Amino acid sequence: MTQKISVCLSFDFDAISIWVGPKGTRSPNLISRGEFGARVGAERMLNLLNDEDVPSTWFIPGHTIDTFPEICREIAGAGHEVGYHGYCHEGPSSKRPFEEEQGILLRAIECIDRISGKAPVGHRLPGGNLGERWTNLLMEHGIRYDSSMAPNDFAPVYHRLGDVPRTDGPFEFGKEVDLVILPFDWNMDDAPYFSYEPGSGRPGLRAPADVLQIWKDEFDYLYNRIGEGVYVLTMHPQTTGKGSRMLMLERLIAYIKEHDNVEFKTLAAVADEFRAANPLK
Ligand SMILES: [Zn+2]
Repeated sequence: MTQKISVCLSFDFDAISIWVGPKGTRSPNLISRGEFGARVGAERMLNLLNDEDVPSTWFIPGHTIDTFPEICREIAGAGHEVGYHGYCHEGPSSKRPFEEEQGILLRAIECIDRISGKAPVGHRLPGGNLGERWTNLLMEHGIRYDSSMAPNDFAPVYHRLGDVPRTDGPFEFGKEVDLVILPFDWNMDDAPYFSYEPGSGRPGLRAPADVLQIWKDEFDYLYNRIGEGVYVLTMHPQTTGKGSRMLMLERLIAYIKEHDNVEFKTLAAVADEFRAANPLK
């Protein structure tokens, strides 16, 4: 088997936005976790990526860009892709008036443009769903791919609109639209494994060696059983920026690099390749 594997390291750089936004907390304790992500975790991550010479994709809320502009400029300046992740980590909501919904998107796009010199082409939901109104808004404003779900864990597909979730007969699939879906899976996200929140019932604090093994096994399955596809990891600087998890990530990158026919890429590059090889009918 001759393999052809793309590896995408992606980072949701929520920083403080997730705590003061959707979680609605004003706890200095919790806010300090976001601050750690921006002042310490992101810098560690960026140094590792630069030392390893691997491109990556960062989904950065406008709030993080406005609060911590220097590190965001460094990320973009080092050639990493910057994608959309809300202004203050808002998911789309059909309950919000259209103007307000569009305003969030435009404000966040403007922030990304300001630090990177270009509008984003990538999108990851900070919450909520990829509904019809939001999907259309994304496509109208230059978003070319989303990475928030995984109908296929190792391959891109086109998003669909017009699905009919019938219960009195088979599910009806809608029509493909010009938005590529790149895999996002909780199994491949650091937060459920590591992020401990007192009182939330989420245990977190899993041993990094366990997660390293799971992520290696996912890679091995793709490499040895399928042979071709995209391997997408999602991490948060405030979560994986801790020492033991940074070592885990170093080990994972080293392991992946031992394999032939594997290339680290941005999600945007993978979406473009998919689109070129599979034009939308
Ligand atoms: Zn997020």
